[in-house]
Amino acid sequence: MKVYLDNASSTCLENEVVDEMNSVIQKQYGNPSSIHFLGREARTIIEKSRKSIAKHFGVSPSEIIFTSGGTEANNMAILSAVKTFGINNVITSELEHHSVLNTIQKLKEDKITNVHYVQTDNLGHINLTHLEELLKTNESCLVSLMHANNEIGNLTSLKKTDDLCKQYNAIFHSDTVQTVGKYNINLQTTHVDFIVCSAHKFHGPKGIGFLYCSPRVMAIKPLIYGGSQERNKRGGTENIYGIAGLAKALEIAYRDLEKNHLYIMGLKKYMIKQLLAFLPGITFNGDHENKSHYAILNVGFLLKDNSSLTSDKFDMLLFNLDISGIAVSGGSACSSGSLIISHVLKAIHADENKISVRFSFSKYNTTQEIDYVIEKIKNILY
Ligand code: PLP
Repeated sequence: MKVYLDNASSTCLENEVVDEMNSVIQKQYGNPSSIHFLGREARTIIEKSRKSIAKHFGVSPSEIIFTSGGTEANNMAILSAVKTFGINNVITSELEHHSVLNTIQKLKEDKITNVHYVQTDNLGHINLTHLEELLKTNESCLVSLMHANNEIGNLTSLKKTDDLCKQYNAIFHSDTVQTVGKYNINLQTTHVDFIVCSAHKFHGPKGIGFLYCSPRVMAIKPLIYGGSQERNKRGGTENIYGIAGLAKALEIAYRDLEKNHLYIMGLKKYMIKQLLAFLPGITFNGDHENKSHYAILNVGFLLKDNSSLTSDKFDMLLFNLDISGIAVSGGSACSSGSLIISHVLKAIHADENKISVRFSFSKYNTTQEIDYVIEKIKNILY
């Protein structure tokens, strides 16, 4: 049996997306910037896709800028906002994805802006009172806080964060890579200046995504200079197959959102129940119940002999899961034989003697697969 429970890393392509992309790959080889008929056909595909994408968020198509994915979109939002609007203070958290964390770290190292880390609790939630204090005491701020954490699944309220940002006139960027296509995000009712998308997280292709820019930040300068593509905001010939695939994958994701949400949430709840019933001493990293992404579950496993965790023991679990045909993500990495806990688990003070594993679900998983995974873990660990 092969079980893929690593859907927060990437997802399989939807058949309808493959068909859509195949037809574009085979027929549309014109450069979208060319004025002849093949160029115009390619341009039409891009603009139709942009329109279809914008509709899901209640925004104007001109506010969508295609990028190579989430990493580039996060880099662009942060670096371009700082460059364009003379931001002096960036407020973020230690739980962000590396594409945000390292971009902001570089701004700090190069002494371009001050950086402030908002406090988080042991469940990984943002302390909004501390955020307000930071906003009150610093001027010209960019707030960068992710919507859902990719490792532990914690959700941050876009609405509450937006309210604070508005009150203190701060620009608000949210890394929404894990929630676009999984949650309804209505940018008419919740104002966020920048949101970010990566198609491969919701059964679309890799290497394509977008950055949404609200009208108030639309003046941002490019991150990548080149031709006049993307209204002079992102140079380079557009990834037309990727864009068509992204639009199709998003259309399917939002078409079936409620059904999939309920189904996947059911899988997560089932796994929690079975883990608690069959595996002693397990804990959950982050908030697995309330403000938590329905497709992400991060579990800490106790070692059989209660001994401390070493890199060999950690490797042994991941290796055995791998040879059992189970694909998951570990919450730590090995470096020169020693175990390095991930920055997220460290920030929430997760128990370093537990083996942390992230299970992330999709609509293609089943309860039978979960039973198989639990049985294997029981055999490996206990
Ligand atoms: N942000 C988050 C929260 C992610 O989970 C990921 C991907 O793992 C990214 C950003 C980067 O996206 P991409 O793979 O499209 O560069």
